[in-house]
Amino acid sequence: MTKAKRSKFYYRQALKLMPAGVNSPVRAFYAVGGKPVFIKKGKGSRIYDVDGRSYIDYVLSWGPLILGHAHKEVIKATVQALKCGTSFGAPIKDEIELAKIITRAVPSMEMLRLVTSGTEAVMSAVRLARAFTKKNKIVKFEGCYHGHSDSLLVASGSGAATFGVPNSLGVPKDFAKNTFVLPYNDIDKVDALLKANSRNIAAVILEPVCGNMGVVLPRNNFLSELRAITKKHNVLLIFDEVITGFRFLFGGAQNLFKVIPDITCLGKIIGGGLALGAYGASREIMSLVSPLGGMYQAGTLSGNPVAVACGLRTLQILKKIDYNKIEGLTVRLCKNLEETAKREGFKIRINHIGSMFTVFFTKEEVDSYQKAKRSDTKKYAAFFNAALNAGIYIAPSQFEANFLSFAHSLSDVKFTETVFNQALRGEYV
Ligand SMILES: *Cc1c(COP(=O)(O)O)cnc(C)c1O
Repeated sequence: MTKAKRSKFYYRQALKLMPAGVNSPVRAFYAVGGKPVFIKKGKGSRIYDVDGRSYIDYVLSWGPLILGHAHKEVIKATVQALKCGTSFGAPIKDEIELAKIITRAVPSMEMLRLVTSGTEAVMSAVRLARAFTKKNKIVKFEGCYHGHSDSLLVASGSGAATFGVPNSLGVPKDFAKNTFVLPYNDIDKVDALLKANSRNIAAVILEPVCGNMGVVLPRNNFLSELRAITKKHNVLLIFDEVITGFRFLFGGAQNLFKVIPDITCLGKIIGGGLALGAYGASREIMSLVSPLGGMYQAGTLSGNPVAVACGLRTLQILKKIDYNKIEGLTVRLCKNLEETAKREGFKIRINHIGSMFTVFFTKEEVDSYQKAKRSDTKKYAAFFNAALNAGIYIAPSQFEANFLSFAHSLSDVKFTETVFNQALRGEYV
């Protein structure tokens, strides 16, 4: 076990200044029983902590860094924009470029608005759905996380799942009451709810591939059936593609599954590591957004020139990249661990798609939040800490996705396989 002297020193100071010493809950490592590592810099697939240790990073800032840390061209474009000023609160040319590249790639987005986070994108999308349908209620799924706005912080995944706080304090019952929560992948329950209540329901929102209860895939036809049912009942379908946007291919999960929602939310990758989100829909729906229409939404830093430059260059690079490379490495990594587990009798389930994966410490298939929650989080914590001590940084919670970037090499993956195998056997702990 290494000493992590400086990390501990900073952590003690941070604890006095920020709740649990962090600015976002899962970073505190509560779920894995350790102390957070303070990061100094990142390059490619690696991050370096303040004590001089390096890690192969599978968190990648929770998804945005699909090109890896400090990508040369992305940094260059960002610095160039930075030198011209940090913010104008007025239109800039690159907003058009970014809007073009996104709307051409994501079929449901004829028009969009840029915002500063995924939370803001989803919050605005829900308001838009309510404005368009003139109805109030929304349907979400257990374990899906859609940011921390009031109506969506009900039975949430991510940090809320990690800490078993399905309903946050401070969310008025009057808000939560407008949110129906159903189990992911259960189309019959959606059908029944919409049959009984569609008069009051504005939208059904989900992660088309779930990342925030760990990776959970939509069952066969779940998405297409949702599309058919929502259409039939005049309820809008919102895909929260904050994680999945540009993660599997140059577009969203909607391109991959060929199911087109009414409204789409983006974040993470489209900002390339800076603060940027977007929501978009058909011209008809987007015409409701102020000042064209009566749905208000605004932002001092919306379409920020530095974030736009960073996101734009990231997408321009991604457009020319073959996604098979990271998918191949991910499949290899997951298969290797699965085979070891099988051979040696460890009970794990690995869910993966594209370059996302989660190792669940459970023996049954995980296709819902209920099943994800049956995982042995103590075993996950041991696996996490063993991997961390050996130089592999994975998500500090069972209920999160891990990611590969285009900076991850075959030798990174081979080293990770060795570490994962040993971590599974309880070495390094
Ligand atoms: C991360 C995430 C959000 C929230 O985005 P922030 O930028 O953290 O506000 C919303 N939805 C999904 C699916 C996410 O993964």
